[in-house]
Amino acid sequence: MKLKISTIPIDGLELDFSLDAQKLRQSFGSNDRLQQAMQTAIQVKLSVEKQREHVHLKGNFELALQPTCDRCLETFSYPLQQALSVTCMPRTMIDEEDDGLLAYHGDQIDLAEVVRDQLVLSLPMIFHCRQDCKGLCPNCGINLNMGQCSCEAAVQHA
Ligand SMILES: [Zn+2]
Ligand SMILES: [Zn+2]
Repeated sequence: MKLKISTIPIDGLELDFSLDAQKLRQSFGSNDRLQQAMQTAIQVKLSVEKQREHVHLKGNFELALQPTCDRCLETFSYPLQQALSVTCMPRTMIDEEDDGLLAYHGDQIDLAEVVRDQLVLSLPMIFHCRQDCKGLCPNCGINLNMGQCSCEAAVQHA
């Protein structure tokens, strides 16, 4: 999804598009955690405004990730809706990029890249299937959300 800057009208643009899950997975490269979690398309709504060489992108995106719980290793559904507000400027005008400021090259902005970067920033460091996930027994590996094992007493007494 490329946005050609020279084609943005004075009144701006309203965009409504989706990003393919498979392409996004590839773009995560070696980040296995995200590759695995990315199973559905991302729905994106953006207002685009241009002021001279500044391009303002404002809107939101939503998707349902399928991450693996870091405690119990079960896969679960993690719906995410995230606001997005980014200003893009030509590479030559920016010293340093940050969360809200992006450089573009030439006449186009890769919107898939913008959304992907914002998605990565908005994700938690750790996924938990629920707040009180009990995880796996470190001893026998049973999922303690599903049932008890007999190790617990022994571990506590040790
Ligand atoms: Zn869990
Ligand atoms: Zn156990």
